[in-house]
Amino acid sequence: MACDVHTHTIFSRHAYSTIEENVRAAAELRVELLGSTDHFSCMLYPERNGAFDVRDFQYLYNLSAWPRVWCGVRLLRGVEADIVDLDGRLFGWDSPITDEINGHPLTAPTTLKERVFGKIDYAIASIHDDSFAEGASLAQTTACYVHALEDPKVLILGHTGRSGVPFDVDEVLTVAKEKGKLIEINEATLARHREAVGQCQKIAERCAEMGVMISTGTDAHISQSVGRVDHVRAMLEGIHFPQKLVATRDAQTFLGVLERAVGRPQGL
Ligand SMILES: [Zn+2]
Ligand SMILES: [Zn+2]
Repeated sequence: MACDVHTHTIFSRHAYSTIEENVRAAAELRVELLGSTDHFSCMLYPERNGAFDVRDFQYLYNLSAWPRVWCGVRLLRGVEADIVDLDGRLFGWDSPITDEINGHPLTAPTTLKERVFGKIDYAIASIHDDSFAEGASLAQTTACYVHALEDPKVLILGHTGRSGVPFDVDEVLTVAKEKGKLIEINEATLARHREAVGQCQKIAERCAEMGVMISTGTDAHISQSVGRVDHVRAMLEGIHFPQKLVATRDAQTFLGVLERAVGRPQGL
């Protein structure tokens, strides 16, 4: 598994390494491709006057400053965006933006989500606060994940095995397969959320049986965790998961999947 496409930097506020530290850690482990996916979420900054402030999210505005290859590692620009409602909408969708970060008015008003999604290569859609799904039916939570997958920039559903929101696995996997999108098997979950391991394994087994591709992200919140997927590897080997369904096995495979499902990143 030569790609790590779910990692965080200090811009996630509860993560501790810079992008350069993550890149260097990836290079040391001969990771071919690193996807940096800081949180795009209300966990970071509070709303002010009913909207999020574009200046709080400007760490996602200038991603084109990053080289595409750094220390020999291909570098992709991503976010981990929160799913915020049962319609599968993503953080920032309803937060209006009228100004640039320097206060100059935009020619056409937009939303925080559209603005940021115009600058990234791909998004991971994850649930971190499951309160919106309280009391929801399985049909509703399934539709929620399906709608999230329908977003043109969403390539990966993040850590569905630990989010605390049950859903119809086969139905969501069917849509992921149709769209060429990925279900994540998340290293941090297997390493630190033992209660979720059974569900993660069930999801992986259904991916294998149904021919759905997976993504193996570390969800590293510090550079020492980048590229280290021991728990994921052990689990996948234990269930004889087919290598051809691992989208993160090498950079070429991952970039092909990304290009078909979401589009070719600018400058690649
Ligand atoms: Zn997450
Ligand atoms: Zn994460």
